[in-house]
Amino acid sequence: KLTTYPIHHGSPIPMTPIQLTLKKVAVVGGGAAGLVVARELRREGHKVVVFERGAQSGGTWVYSPEIESDPLGLDPTRKIVHSSLYSSLRTNLPREVMGFGDFPFVASGKTDRDSRRFPGHEEVLRYLEDFANEFELHELIRYQTEVSHVGFETQGKWKVKSRRNAGNDGSEFDETYDAVVVCNGHYTEPRIAEIPGIELWPGRQIHSHNYRISEPYQDQVVVLIGSSASAVDICRDLSRSAKEVHVASRSKPEGSFGKQAGYDNLWLHPMIERAHEDGRVTFQDGNMVLAQVILHCTGYKYHFPFLHNIAAVEVDDNRVGPLYKHVFPPALAPGISFVGLPWKVVPFILCELQSRWIAGTLSGRILLPSEEKMMEDIEAFYSKLNAAGVPKRYTHNIGDHQFDYDDWLAAETGSPPIEEWRKGMYRACSLRRRAQPETYRDEWDDDDWISVAYQDFKQYLS
Ligand code: FAD
Repeated sequence: KLTTYPIHHGSPIPMTPIQLTLKKVAVVGGGAAGLVVARELRREGHKVVVFERGAQSGGTWVYSPEIESDPLGLDPTRKIVHSSLYSSLRTNLPREVMGFGDFPFVASGKTDRDSRRFPGHEEVLRYLEDFANEFELHELIRYQTEVSHVGFETQGKWKVKSRRNAGNDGSEFDETYDAVVVCNGHYTEPRIAEIPGIELWPGRQIHSHNYRISEPYQDQVVVLIGSSASAVDICRDLSRSAKEVHVASRSKPEGSFGKQAGYDNLWLHPMIERAHEDGRVTFQDGNMVLAQVILHCTGYKYHFPFLHNIAAVEVDDNRVGPLYKHVFPPALAPGISFVGLPWKVVPFILCELQSRWIAGTLSGRILLPSEEKMMEDIEAFYSKLNAAGVPKRYTHNIGDHQFDYDDWLAAETGSPPIEEWRKGMYRACSLRRRAQPETYRDEWDDDDWISVAYQDFKQYLS
């Protein structure tokens, strides 16, 4: 146990040294979030066990050609495939922006690696493997071990039950920890569009979670619902094999509907009005197509099937709450915390800052406000969302103020704020992605920011 000074709201409190309390912490999930949580917890001096149900770390970035038995993902007994990656996926952020703060995601220069600025998904997995190797994280991870139960015990202890799923080894563990950090990801449990008449529509429905390659859609007419980054990519990928691709989007302006420039089989429509018994799908502007497939690119739900008897936090219309700054349920803080919930963000750096905050809070080096003050903060945040007409399910969509959020965490943890180049590159990329979805990954005009970033990286690269 070390003696140090506590930090409260970014500034050390002088003259009152404290003893760090080092904890035994369970981390659920070994994706990007779980890895950086493990590093930060260990750096702080905590004892860490990461539970990972897969055979390797990397989470979302572990591509699997396999799809689930229920392609819509509604059957709770289906065999779960964790990752939602499609084969052709390249990152939608430049690699410089994506990387962790002190471990830049630069091209390795090796011939067997993808050196593109927006690399394919395999390169991200290799980067995460490099990260795990560099910080010797594998020794902290129990692979092929799924957490089935997390529950609050008395006196601030947490019960964690888990089961090995390797071969015939179904060993079960029943353990007690001082704290639990939840990093199970939120791109696995599909959210489905509600379509009038769908019960009698005779075609095939699938969620983008189970889309991998275009070939199975050869010569078919597909209606794709959505306008997210995945929808934008998948409709183009599909158009290589499908006979026709019709994208139904809620959020596109009037003038953008119709056949898409550069394609002879890709159309944009307003939302679906109804699906019919004879296979037709009609759109809100009165147009209709005879379709074989409806592909829902409609996002995901937060899902924590292992949380038991924890009334202090629940999922309501995809709001996980109440959570102070998207991380701590005030009634149980800092014993249980959630990493990586915000979306439309740059996730790795955000997870890194959240992890540092959790690590420092658990040791007592960083002080949280009282439970009442945290609840007041949450209520004020919810009221603000409400007044602005933001639906509950967008609570964790912090895209527009993500860097303020990151900088708040940075100040709280005594870390440097987000680099100006990272913010500038992110904004430049967002604009390009909207203006030129086909080419934004290979054509750019932010070379000035690239020079600044690589200058900055020198301090971390030997
Ligand atoms: P995950 O990567 O999902 O990891 C969660 C881990 O928890 C998994 O390994 C899982 O096996 C494990 N787990 C779950 N439940 C249990 C349990 N009960 N017991 C034990 N283990 C469990 N981000 C970018 O920065 N750039 C991009 O270009 C980008 N593109 C994306 C494209 C797609 C299609 C998707 C879905 C996401 C994309 N993202 C992108 C976001 C991506 O999710 C994050 O980069 C990051 O992978 C999130 O990491 P995570 O650790 O929070 O979750």
